[in-house]
Amino acid sequence: MAPKKRIAVMTSGGDSPGMNCVVRAVVRMAIHMGCDAFAVYEGYEGLVRGGDYIKKMEWDDVRGWLSEGGTLIGTARCIAFYERPGRLTAAKNMVLNGIDALVICGGDGSLTGADKFRTEWPSLLDELIAKGQLSNDQIASYQHLNLVGLVGSIDNDVSGTDATIGCYSALSRICEMVDYIEATASSHSRAFIIEVMGRHCGWLALLAGVATGADFVFIPERPQDHDWRREMTIVVRRHRKLGKRKTIVIVAEGARDKNGAKILPEEIRDLLADKGESGLGLDTRITTLGHVQRGGTAVAYDRMLATLQGVEAVKAILEATSDTETCFIAIKENMIVRKQLTKAVQSSKELAAAVQAKDFEKAMSLRDTEFADQYNSYLTTTNISAGDCKLPERSQMKIGFINVGAPAGGMNAAMRAAVAFCINRGHEPIAIHNGFAGFARHHDDKPLGAVRPFDWLEVDNWASKGGSEIGTNRELPSESGLELIANLIEQYEFDALLIIGGFEAFHSVSQLRKARDEFPSLCIPICLLPATISNNVPGTEYSLGSDTCLNELVNYCDKIKQSASASRRRVFVIETQGGRSGYIATLSGLNVGATATYIPEEGISLEMLNSDVKHLQEVFKHDRGQSRFGRVILVNEKASNVYDAKLIAGIIREEAHERFESRESIPGHVQQGGIPSPTDRCRAVRLAIKCIQHLEDFGRNAHNQVKKDPRSTTVIGIQGSEVVFTPMKELEEQETDWSNRRPKMAHWLGMREVAGILSGRPIYPKPE
Ligand code: ATP
Repeated sequence: MAPKKRIAVMTSGGDSPGMNCVVRAVVRMAIHMGCDAFAVYEGYEGLVRGGDYIKKMEWDDVRGWLSEGGTLIGTARCIAFYERPGRLTAAKNMVLNGIDALVICGGDGSLTGADKFRTEWPSLLDELIAKGQLSNDQIASYQHLNLVGLVGSIDNDVSGTDATIGCYSALSRICEMVDYIEATASSHSRAFIIEVMGRHCGWLALLAGVATGADFVFIPERPQDHDWRREMTIVVRRHRKLGKRKTIVIVAEGARDKNGAKILPEEIRDLLADKGESGLGLDTRITTLGHVQRGGTAVAYDRMLATLQGVEAVKAILEATSDTETCFIAIKENMIVRKQLTKAVQSSKELAAAVQAKDFEKAMSLRDTEFADQYNSYLTTTNISAGDCKLPERSQMKIGFINVGAPAGGMNAAMRAAVAFCINRGHEPIAIHNGFAGFARHHDDKPLGAVRPFDWLEVDNWASKGGSEIGTNRELPSESGLELIANLIEQYEFDALLIIGGFEAFHSVSQLRKARDEFPSLCIPICLLPATISNNVPGTEYSLGSDTCLNELVNYCDKIKQSASASRRRVFVIETQGGRSGYIATLSGLNVGATATYIPEEGISLEMLNSDVKHLQEVFKHDRGQSRFGRVILVNEKASNVYDAKLIAGIIREEAHERFESRESIPGHVQQGGIPSPTDRCRAVRLAIKCIQHLEDFGRNAHNQVKKDPRSTTVIGIQGSEVVFTPMKELEEQETDWSNRRPKMAHWLGMREVAGILSGRPIYPKPE
């Protein structure tokens, strides 16, 4: 039998939320794969110091770490590691402790250090031999440094990955603060300048601008083309003229002008407050957010990213041969991928150099596609009525906006962005209130809905609003009357429709498409932007609102687990929504470390319950109080017709024989969330704009062209590493499980295995 591999994990550089999830995933996955797991405390400092800084980790050592902020194994800035003698000692400590492989989670500095360490490794070993510090026998099995990088940083400053572990948690903190500030800014009609972190990278500032609909944003890699003072005053003045009572300017701490001079919040304040001709005379305040941005527990997205990437890192280590390129783990849209470490380090360096050399085009090109997309989204949704991107009149369209189904976080942000984009392009965006039901009955005596042009000032406030401001309804067009809907579309002379919603919205688009032969007025381009907490719309792996829901569930589970910290021996059986899709149950389970999750795709069998109950009995038998919190089981509301949360909790209680207890808990509509998560808001903006651009491809009055083109009824979605538009016909016929109202293939099923492995859930016999 091959000797056990000894895998160590380290967190380095600035701490970021999610680092503990990385450590938990690496430790448990390593143990699961039959390896020994170690933690190197205090980053590279621990590697250089050796001794107690390198500790063997057991399964239970990382219990409860998913919900802990910062890094529990410590991090430090290590001066010694910058120099070769420091790295020499680190190499010696690795060999003396028998560490075969190292997973390093940190920012661009940490990964640069890792890349250097890897390149130098053979020469470090030679030097240790030459100096007599190690013998040939000692180094025999360490010829190749098996190393994998994970990007943990709140700045999102590493090239090659869309997101770094911790960046969405930091963004959430920022947006939370901006949302608070907006209320007071609006009340007093004030301007606020909010300084956020990001010495070299403007991701946090930019995305906070997108998520909150800020008036102006300053980022290091893309200064304003001309005089920023003039540009900012024009925009703010225009917004004030439109009637805005608040002004929010977000500035990254590393923001510079086109000549490389630092832009200080005080300068911006003076300009906004200036009562003279060039200023705006606004009551202006500065808020520097500082370290609150690092604080707190990781949001759902970061927990998922950290966990999946930690698992992938262990896999990469075990698959590596001496010829394998050293990799780091990245995410591209929705796909976890391995990428060359050297390349990322190189591009990050090039980017910093480009900013330094004021080559801003190059700096932007070195950022990931999502960054450039968001930058453009930001410009087009903020610079209202600038008039410079208007289409010629013959291409300007009248576009109807409609929400269908239950409300989901991000619906309003999507509307706001799409409306702003339309206004800038010269289109006429029209709100259809309360879904198809509202459309069909808005002429009644007691109108359910209304059809009216959007008021920009009203919409501008929607970036962070939960629910659906234009109202939503589950009624399908067939229930409202297809002929009536077709007539109304003709009467209002809509050139296109943007529909935002979940499975009912999907069904609605399908009905409209199929009715085209009968009602030619339905031959207009129709685009569906999926928005539902259930994330069950075919054609996409992500729906707006699902991230908000996961955050609500994660917070709920964290709190409820903590409530058991006094008794410590309690199992909570929590019922989740999600229709006949187990997505939110599974992902929440992954993010909170649930003991088990039950989903409709698998159903619930007696064998399963038996296996999980036995597992719980074992767990509590060996638990001598070391686990501080209660345990959680998640049950989707439609997982079984018989075994619901109450019954499962009852079964567990009965079988616990008073050694532990069990309670059921139903969060219900809390899962739809209050304020949408910044992830949902930012994605809403980006996807909504892409939808309008897609509709623009068809232009005004495109009935004849539309009929022939399958892309004229389409669903926008994130699939793997791409944002794609899939024709409705293809989805209806090939990818939809109509009776269960979900896609035939659940892209997330693989995550169940990971969740099961990391929570130690035994494998039960699969139902036939
Ligand atoms: P953050 O993005 O939060 O700042 P970071 O990983 O970039 O995280 P740094 O302080 O730049 O943080 O780097 C962390 C540690 O990595 C340093 O203290 C040092 O030990 C090591 N390191 C960084 N750059 C190098 C380098 N060029 N050579 C060797 N080691 C380095």
